[in-house]
Amino acid sequence: MNREAALTKMTKGQPVRELANSPFLYMPLSAYRGHFARPVVREGERVLKYQLIAGLKDAFSANVHAPVSGTVVGVRDFSGAGGEKVPMLVLKNDFQDECIALPDEERGDPPPEAILQAIEAAGIVGAGGAQFPAALKYRLAGEDIKTFIVNGVECEPYLTADYAVMRERTQAFFEGIRLVNTLLRAKEVVIAIEEKNRELEAVFAPFLTQPRYAGFRVKVVSGGYPQGSQWQLVCAVTGLELAPPRHAAGEGIVVSNVATVYAAYQAVVEKRPVVSRILTVSGEGVGHPGNIEVPIGTPVGYVLEQMGVSSDRYTIVLGGPMMGRLVTDWSSPVTKGTNGVLVFERQTVDRENCIGCGRCIDACPMRLMPLKYAEGWRLGNLVMMKRHDLNLCVECGACESVCPSNVPLMASIFSGKARLREGSPS
Ligand code: SF4
Ligand code: SF4
Repeated sequence: MNREAALTKMTKGQPVRELANSPFLYMPLSAYRGHFARPVVREGERVLKYQLIAGLKDAFSANVHAPVSGTVVGVRDFSGAGGEKVPMLVLKNDFQDECIALPDEERGDPPPEAILQAIEAAGIVGAGGAQFPAALKYRLAGEDIKTFIVNGVECEPYLTADYAVMRERTQAFFEGIRLVNTLLRAKEVVIAIEEKNRELEAVFAPFLTQPRYAGFRVKVVSGGYPQGSQWQLVCAVTGLELAPPRHAAGEGIVVSNVATVYAAYQAVVEKRPVVSRILTVSGEGVGHPGNIEVPIGTPVGYVLEQMGVSSDRYTIVLGGPMMGRLVTDWSSPVTKGTNGVLVFERQTVDRENCIGCGRCIDACPMRLMPLKYAEGWRLGNLVMMKRHDLNLCVECGACESVCPSNVPLMASIFSGKARLREGSPS
């Protein structure tokens, strides 16, 4: 068994644990594509755990809540994953853990509109990285939903956080799915898991026989990256081979992540907003890898220190090794979309050593030419990147994972897309 498989097996077998809280939290105000929440607290104000600290500014933003009690330091620009500067609301933790009074837990099912409002108020965003507001996604889904797919396929190496939720918090997971499907009214609900996690079928079996989960079924899909990407997953579950401009939503299919439906349960039943994230800390540089639950806003450096990583000779990735972002600043915080913090031996990367082998083209599920993005970025030629349909790239990372020359394809793709969003080249 190689080191990667051994580490994945190790974290899979461990329960979720909590770390000591950080003295400062850096709460990102951005959600989907740079849409920001508006702070509703003042500098110097004392806030309680679960209190709303930044509210909706537009439909694509998301509420932000305090994960601890403490004092508002202010809004400052700090580095997010990838090094870009983003506004964050800084909280100084007073370690009192004083909470606002939460309403009593829900006993029956609220009406659909109340469920939707609870999901929106809790600040739930897609937990897979893009952070699209979940309530907006479900509102836009339409009336005629055929299939609701819950994406339990953690196909990126090392990541086992979703597995931990599905195995340890199964009841809450199933209830979250059922509550979301109260909104969607999909004809069938499919929980997709990977072949390597087939033992979850036995964990789910007592739930699947209950009348309240009628219409739920499990689909075991073959492993391998990028099986968990929406396009591959929809194909594996429904047989539909989609490619832009045909999207799952247009075919009556909605896909949500494990963390999203789990957060829906917490919002609707426990009346708790999103203030923490379950993620995997692993990689060659971590002595005791595991799944942990940490407050949103915790600096990555603090997480790593708690996990026994103190040297800066490592490369840090927020997310999985394929789709994650390199962290250049250790104060970058855990966000609602962070599913892993991975630590690797540092590698030097030559930006100009493409050997034209074509493996990245063969690996691309969208049938693109990734080498052209590296070339376009190196030459400063955004027109070239656009001409090769950079906008169709789903950022799965499959191209970079097979490149024998370590060409930084994903960095070129992320940078190129950011530049194109700022204004298309003529
Ligand atoms: S170009 Fe690379 S990251 Fe984009 S879809 Fe193709 S393989 Fe995935
Ligand atoms: S896989 Fe790497 S070396 Fe091969 S063509 Fe693509 S970018 Fe170039």
